[in-house]
Amino acid sequence: MKNIAVIGAGTMGNGIAHVFAQNGYHINLIDISQASLDKGVAAIAKNLDRMVSKEIISEKDKSDTLGNIETHVSISSGIQDVQLVVEAATENIDLKLKIFKELDELCATETILATNTSSISITRIAAVTQRPEKVIGMHFMNPVPIMKLVEIIRGYSTSDETTQVIMELSEKLGKTPTEVNDYPGFVANRILMPMLNEAIETLYNGVAGVQEIDTVMKLGMAHPMGPLQLADFIGLDVCLSILNVMYDGFKNPKYAPCPLLVNMVMAGKLGVKSGEGFYDYSESRKAEKVAAQFN
Ligand code: NAD
Repeated sequence: MKNIAVIGAGTMGNGIAHVFAQNGYHINLIDISQASLDKGVAAIAKNLDRMVSKEIISEKDKSDTLGNIETHVSISSGIQDVQLVVEAATENIDLKLKIFKELDELCATETILATNTSSISITRIAAVTQRPEKVIGMHFMNPVPIMKLVEIIRGYSTSDETTQVIMELSEKLGKTPTEVNDYPGFVANRILMPMLNEAIETLYNGVAGVQEIDTVMKLGMAHPMGPLQLADFIGLDVCLSILNVMYDGFKNPKYAPCPLLVNMVMAGKLGVKSGEGFYDYSESRKAEKVAAQFN
């Protein structure tokens, strides 16, 4: 495998492109506009600069990495001669089904189609293609260049061969791939999201304040970040949407999103990206100040 297409140059797509390119793969980075692509490549350059200043990589590694990335504004031009596509476009089921249908029509029959989705069924995505055995989940964690895990999700029809190729490829990127089956939330979010939801429920029930809940989990359980801060970092809209996927998928009330989370999303308080969630990010992104409503 040498040529890989990455669809979406946002937070995850640019991280995925960065990691592949740094490991010598030629990347066609695809997005809907040149502006999004330029923003994605600028983010990669900034992250590489940080690695150069920390002496993790050399200036030459940086220029080689950037030299391995080509940008494309259309899927048809970007998937020429690629052996793998990693889709990291916006989390929207209709959009992903449309992209996979198009990929299936345009890509060579042997090309593996992977998705970085956090919550959409791999089996459902695979079902719109004529190659469900070559469709797989490759769930990278944010920030991609730093986080070691890749959750490898086997859809109902994903073949052993496809799984093996993707497991080995992930290891070549210096990651630790972990194989899981395709059920709502996979493993990472099935365990993480109920914990974040329970932290919100604990706040909602008035058991403790924002800082108290995060302090208990940081100092008591050795979590690097408290659950409320982590929910803000992930995005409260993203947490709500993943909980709803699990709630709908399992029909089990234990996954029902806390009403406080629902209200905050409706009010546009989405966490770091909107400037306010459980913490106030108007002055710093470091979660130093609890949002006024929780004080
Ligand atoms: P993002 O909003 O930062 O980026 C999405 C990008 O997709 C944008 O640049 C957008 O222009 C582009 N896009 C939209 N439609 C497109 C199309 N038709 N063709 C090509 N590009 C298109 O989103 P993100 O946070 O990078 O998430 C991307 C995927 O990764 C989602 O499936 C998400 O669930 C998953 N994911 C996100 C995280 C995270 O922490 N952000 C973690 C793991 C997985």
